[in-house]
Amino acid sequence: MVKQLCILGSTGSIGTQTLDVVRANPDRYSVYALCAHRSVDKLIGQARAFRPEVVCIADESLYEPLREALSDLPIKVWAGADAIAQVVTMPSIDIVVAAMVGYAGLRPTMEAIKAGKTIALANKETLVVAGEIICELAQKHHAPILPVDSEHSAIFQSLAGEDKNEIEKILLTASGGPFRTFTREQMQTVTATEALRHPNWEMGAKITIDSASMINKGFEVIEAKWLFGVPVEKIQVLIHPQSIVHSAVQFADGAIKAQLGAPDMRLPIQYALSYPERLQSDFPRADLFEIGHLTFEQPDPAKFPNLSLAYEATRRGGNIPCVLNAANEVVNLAFREGRCRFFQMSEIIEQTMAKADFIARPTYDDYVATDAAARRIAESFIH
Ligand code: MG
Repeated sequence: MVKQLCILGSTGSIGTQTLDVVRANPDRYSVYALCAHRSVDKLIGQARAFRPEVVCIADESLYEPLREALSDLPIKVWAGADAIAQVVTMPSIDIVVAAMVGYAGLRPTMEAIKAGKTIALANKETLVVAGEIICELAQKHHAPILPVDSEHSAIFQSLAGEDKNEIEKILLTASGGPFRTFTREQMQTVTATEALRHPNWEMGAKITIDSASMINKGFEVIEAKWLFGVPVEKIQVLIHPQSIVHSAVQFADGAIKAQLGAPDMRLPIQYALSYPERLQSDFPRADLFEIGHLTFEQPDPAKFPNLSLAYEATRRGGNIPCVLNAANEVVNLAFREGRCRFFQMSEIIEQTMAKADFIARPTYDDYVATDAAARRIAESFIH
């Protein structure tokens, strides 16, 4: 049976690699809907190649050029955030690949869960911001959430067959990013261009900066807490520069199970789509002889204060992880635009977390309000 996919963020890094998986497995997957933020030309090209039923562009000002360019094809063209929230609920869709960037992924992911879709989750901000609501909804609507993030896919794969066996510890690996070997002193003056040179992974700009500052790893700690029901105290971050061990689980008897492979996102994407099956692929294989050494280091908290901020945000709970995320979206963009320095990003996140109003049991509307308020606070600290 061919599975029908809806890809949110189809023109981004995860979106295009999802389409690679579809292209390689036309007998298993077909594209029902493609949604993009504003890369209209890329979306037009994808629509022509994959012939979905629907395409949707978040930026409404791009509706006309999109409609015009596809007018010779029987493809429905929609635009706007409301349209995306609606597309994900369409009855023919089996799997929603949630690969939008940032907070914008929250609402359509919630709608897809409510519609009982299988979620292949690449947008970690969704769980960072509203993990509690997302998990409750997923349980209520029997919507499976399958991780696409390489680390969480590795944990998920390590847990296969373990059923109710207790997790003693999650070992979450991190490449350490481009500044792993820098001193804190050297990191004071790094630029966005330097931060965008990730040693192992090809990713979008937002997440590459998040990796350099290691807020990405902090988000992944929070994501793991929600996906696997493990308190953050049992999640340990290890710097593993080779990016071959994608993460591991330690069990009650001391055994550690890990998933290894070449750093290629198509593998976790494909696994999320085909789970519990494994499909034949021609992705590059990790050659352990060639790699030779696998090394592990403790992250330096003085170089990566964002990691501690993420742990603090979960310990405080409520709407504070949402504040963490919103402040990060502001400083991430400001850093890329040269409006704030590297360590200022962490300082502003910390100050925003201190200043934002605390809500212990936030509703969806509280998250929306928190996100807006935290963005205003974070902006006020820039300059
Ligand atoms: Mg990751």
